[in-house]
Amino acid sequence: MHWHNTTSNLLKPVAEQPRAGLITDMDGTISHIVDQPDQAQITARSRELLKALHPCLALVAIVSGRAAEDIRHRVGLPELVYVGNHGLERWIDDAVSLTPEAAPFRPKLEAATASLNARKIPGMVVEDKGATLSVHYRQVSDPNETAIQFHPIIQEIADSQGLRLFQGRMVFELRPPIEVDKGTAFRNLVEEFQLDAAIYIGDDTTDVDALHAARQLRESGVCHAVGIGVQSPDMPEVVGEAADVMTSGVSDVEALFSWLLKSRKASSTC
Ligand SMILES: [Mg+2]
Repeated sequence: MHWHNTTSNLLKPVAEQPRAGLITDMDGTISHIVDQPDQAQITARSRELLKALHPCLALVAIVSGRAAEDIRHRVGLPELVYVGNHGLERWIDDAVSLTPEAAPFRPKLEAATASLNARKIPGMVVEDKGATLSVHYRQVSDPNETAIQFHPIIQEIADSQGLRLFQGRMVFELRPPIEVDKGTAFRNLVEEFQLDAAIYIGDDTTDVDALHAARQLRESGVCHAVGIGVQSPDMPEVVGEAADVMTSGVSDVEALFSWLLKSRKASSTC
């Protein structure tokens, strides 16, 4: 169902509750997907709306697989909260804090980075993100074939270093075997900021944990959380299944922000 059709019921508490939060993914949600991950930029309209929403909400946070400092730099709004590396680190009040359990895995990530750099194929980009690492293959000659052919190679490297392998849109990721994901990150934010309503927005498989968490929080009565998916031509099917409602793309996410801002102002919550 499209979010437009739920503003008078499912989304209403997010517009009206005093302690409401907006938690969003970055790539493919508030920034367009680009061939080089390096060049991803949040849209000017999203930046403007997030800045305006910050004083109207109890929390505006960006949760991403990128390093926290990287997201903060790209979004450029120091007043927001940035949760990086899928929840393994956080930028808040001008400082980055790493989940303590992640620190011992640093040498293993370095060894895996070295192995991957030795075995990568042309067009592949190995990115060391501090607490995790990504292998981007959007730029190889046949990405679908690479996803199949390279899988056993990266699985072997993950196994040899005791790391976990994950797959997203044109990306492999290696992470420490710690029970932290965007779902736990979302739950922690809801609890810590005592949110009584919240939305989570995301477009990829790694967002599914948070979309599930939103539904569970709402159904258990802890917080009126709503999971919102972002439609795209290569959106994984599981995103559509896990989301409560959908946006049609990055510019529709801007339209949702704009509705939220207008509604918060109308309900005198900012
Ligand atoms: Mg994304």
